[in-house]
Amino acid sequence: MSPTAKKATSKVAKKKVVAKKAPGKKPVAKKALAKKAPGKKPVAKKAPAKKSTKSASVQSRALAAKKAKQLKLAADKKKKLAQQVAAKRAKELQAAKLLKIKKAKELKVAKLLQAKKAREAQLIKAKKLREAKELQAKKAKELQLLKAKKAREAAAQAAAKRVANRLKAQAIAKAKKDREIAIKVAAKKKAQEAKAKAQAAVKAKREREVKARIAAREAEVRRKAKEKAMAEAKKLRDQEAKVKAKEAEKLRKQREIDRLNKVEADRVARREAEELKRLEALDRKKNSKPYAGDLAFLEELRELLIAERQVTAAQVADSDAKAEEMLVDRERLEYDDEDGSSVASDIERDQAKEYAAQLRLKIDEIDVALSRVADGSYGRCDECYESIGRDRLRFQVPVFLCLKCRANV
Ligand SMILES: [Zn+2]
Repeated sequence: MSPTAKKATSKVAKKKVVAKKAPGKKPVAKKALAKKAPGKKPVAKKAPAKKSTKSASVQSRALAAKKAKQLKLAADKKKKLAQQVAAKRAKELQAAKLLKIKKAKELKVAKLLQAKKAREAQLIKAKKLREAKELQAKKAKELQLLKAKKAREAAAQAAAKRVANRLKAQAIAKAKKDREIAIKVAAKKKAQEAKAKAQAAVKAKREREVKARIAAREAEVRRKAKEKAMAEAKKLRDQEAKVKAKEAEKLRKQREIDRLNKVEADRVARREAEELKRLEALDRKKNSKPYAGDLAFLEELRELLIAERQVTAAQVADSDAKAEEMLVDRERLEYDDEDGSSVASDIERDQAKEYAAQLRLKIDEIDVALSRVADGSYGRCDECYESIGRDRLRFQVPVFLCLKCRANV
């Protein structure tokens, strides 16, 4: 179908729609319009038709109106050109061959025009197609939107359902949980009761044990106290016994000491008595005068002593003289002492001096002996106080020790 023919059909369809929608309108007007432009779309009628369409398609309709206008203009142009061509042909026919070149030119122009027309038609077709496509796309979009909306609604419903299900499940779960909790609580309560009972039993047992322990402790304390009292009594008894034993021992010891003391005292007394006796004897002995009764013998001894004294005195005098002499010699010798004779002389002189001293001592002893002859105690040993024998007294002048004591010296 050519674009022109298509246009015509759409126009017819539109006219029908208009006629139906506006029944109150005068058919004359309609007819007149139809007469005036049988192949054209009435502009006046288009407006009400547009109004009746949905707001969504207003724009597309405006586009369609614009398009229709362009189409009408194109159609008018075409018609004019055709009339011009016809007139030209008539003129050409009239002008005949004179206008042949012009005709050819015009043909060319017509061709060009035709080409232009074809291009225009093509353009229109393309535009229409585009529009149709756009419309389709729009519809599809709307459909899509609708679908999406439905899907959203369905999703919302599903979500609501899910929520409801969830709530229900939650309610069930909660109920289950509550039941479980109730069971647990009951079990716990039971367990607690059992525990409390057990604890009470344990407590009672413990109390009994504590009481028993206390009783045992008290019994133990009593037993210990008794034991302690007994032990103390025993200790006391032991102590008393010990004290008694100690006292007895002390007494025994004291007795022993007394006895020993007595023995010792006796012994001491005895010894003292003996010692006294001995001392008395000694004293007697010490003061004994063995030859006091024999005055003749004492006289004999006195004479002997005197004689001896005379001899000894002479010896002393002799010795002294010798020593004096030696001293003089010594003084003399001091000036000429080459052979050490002075030293020898000194020794000799010392010996002489010593001898003289001994002699003088003897004289002293003789004097003592003479004094003892006078008091009658001569002839008694100075060591043992026994009497010295007569012979010893005659031959040893003077003598103060018995032979025995002399030997012990
Ligand atoms: Zn003697």
